[in-house]
Amino acid sequence: MSNTDFVLAVEDLTVSFDGFKAVDKLNMYIDKNELRVVIGPNGAGKTTVLDLICGKTKSTAGSIKFKNRELTRLSEHEIVRAGVGRKFQTPSIYENLTVYQNLEVSYPKGRGVFGSLFFKRSDEVVAQVRKIAREIMMEDILGMEAALLSHGQKQWLEIGMLLMQEPELLMLDEPVAGMSAKERDQTAELLNRICQNRSVIVIEHDMEFVKKIAHKVTVLHQGKILAEGAMDKVQANEKVIEVYLGH
Ligand code: ADP
Repeated sequence: MSNTDFVLAVEDLTVSFDGFKAVDKLNMYIDKNELRVVIGPNGAGKTTVLDLICGKTKSTAGSIKFKNRELTRLSEHEIVRAGVGRKFQTPSIYENLTVYQNLEVSYPKGRGVFGSLFFKRSDEVVAQVRKIAREIMMEDILGMEAALLSHGQKQWLEIGMLLMQEPELLMLDEPVAGMSAKERDQTAELLNRICQNRSVIVIEHDMEFVKKIAHKVTVLHQGKILAEGAMDKVQANEKVIEVYLGH
C-alpha cells in the first residue's frame, strides 16, 4: 500500500517492555481531515500508541510515517515541529496568565513567556491568537486569567495552545473527561471544526461521545487491532462485543 495518500501511516509498529508487547505489529492509516477514535479496554495499548507517535516512547520495531517522513528516529521536539500535537489529560496551561497570553506564548514564532514581556505584539501573532480564540470559543474572554476558567474551558485553552503551533495532526487523550454534558457537546463541535483542516486522533471511553465525533473507530486489544471501521459496524462486531463493549 502506498503511504502517499495518508497523513499518518503506522506500519508493523511494535514496542516491548521487558519482553511484554504492549503494541504488537500495529498497522494504522489516518487520512487527511479524518477524526479517528481509538477505543479498547484498559491496558489495550491506546496510550502507548500515542506515546510512540509523539516520540515520548521509542518503538522496538516498525515505522511511523507522517506525511511520508519517518518519525521513529526523531526527538519529541522535532515531531512537534514536523506538525504533530499531543494533548494529555491534565491541562498544562499557565494559570496566572490570561487566555490571550497563554495562546500568545504558544505561537511557534513567538518569543516565549519572557520575550513577550519585552517585545511589542506583531500583527501576525495577534491575528493568529484571534483566529484560534474564535475556534476554541474564547474570543470574548481573552483577558480572563486562566485560573478562573471552568474545567472544560481549561481543556479547550490547551487545545488552542496546541493549535497555535499549527499541527496537521492533533492527538487527544480523553478530551471530555470530567466535562459537563453541555461542554461535551461543545467539545464535539470543536473537534468537528478542528478536523476541517487537520487530522485528529482521540482516545475515548465515553461511547456516546465516540458516536458523535468518530469518522472511524479503531478497537485495540492486547496491543493489536481487534476491529476497525464505522462505529455501528464496530459495535456489531462479535469479537468487540465479547472483549469490550459487552462488559
Ligand atoms: P491503555 O492506554 O489502552 O489503557 P497503555 O498503553 O497505557 O494501555 O498500556 C498498555 C500496556 O503496556 C499495559 O499493560 C501497561 O501496563 C504496559 N505499559 C505501558 N507503558 C509501560 C512502560 N513504560 N513500562 C512497562 N509497561 C508499560
